[in-house]
Amino acid sequence: MRFNPKARLDTRRTRHAGGGGGGGRGPSLGRGGSLPGGAIGGGSIGAVIVAVLVFAAISYLGGGEDGGPATYDTERYAACETGEDASTSADCARVAVENSLHDFWTDELGSRYEPISALTTFEGSVSTRCGGATSDVGPFYCPVDDGIYLDSGFFDDVLERQLGGPDGGFVEAYVLAHEYGHHVQDVLGTMSRVRTQQGPTSDAVRLELQADCYAGMWARAATTTEDAAGEVLITELTDEDVRLALEAAAAVGDDRIQERTQGQVTEESWTHGSAEQRVRWFRTGLDTGSLEACDTFAADRL
Ligand SMILES: [Zn+2]
Repeated sequence: MRFNPKARLDTRRTRHAGGGGGGGRGPSLGRGGSLPGGAIGGGSIGAVIVAVLVFAAISYLGGGEDGGPATYDTERYAACETGEDASTSADCARVAVENSLHDFWTDELGSRYEPISALTTFEGSVSTRCGGATSDVGPFYCPVDDGIYLDSGFFDDVLERQLGGPDGGFVEAYVLAHEYGHHVQDVLGTMSRVRTQQGPTSDAVRLELQADCYAGMWARAATTTEDAAGEVLITELTDEDVRLALEAAAAVGDDRIQERTQGQVTEESWTHGSAEQRVRWFRTGLDTGSLEACDTFAADRL
């Protein structure tokens, strides 16, 4: 992934929680609890990404409880000014990807679109209106406050090291795009249609596969999406970037997770879909760039 060095970055929606003694005083998000087998810090990208997306599902199940006041480190992203900064800083690359996602969905949905409240990074724990969350939770979307939450240390320390350098950054981009997909579902009212929470054809699985499809839609358009000034921010997305995203999507398939953590596959408890499904729906978004093609709720074959 390459950034246009001249493009300006917009840091208004990106912030870092902390600076005033940390958040996390709110109630635990609860669902899912601890990671099976303590996957964080494990040896494979698969184990790591399990931690990333297993818990994305809890975001829309929780809600309603105010996690209490939070303070923000306003300096954290202040130095992210241009695409050149995004090429040299993981923090600024995060801002750039957020900007690209914002621009893409603003173009795609027009007047129907409402921005996220913020992409909030944290280390350790964070308070949200969906409850308090710790680093174990991994990235998630909270529909109560329209916010995306991401443990930045998780990507810095684990993903980047394991993937060996900046190219690993696109895995984070895929995860961000997936969470942005949940926001789009929230904006379009899709999230509120979810009735069945588990099973291979459940609404929960349809919601997750659609978020993957939306992530693919953005990936298709990323290198042609312009900012408000008419500048393309992401100038190159390589085959290797896409391969990493697909590998990430496969690694978080319910069947892969269950094989790793339980030694068997139990379709009845699926919440996100199989590895094959997640890859295929990301690819559907990537190949078609079509909201209609991403309508997993209408699909006969998931
Ligand atoms: Zn998700």
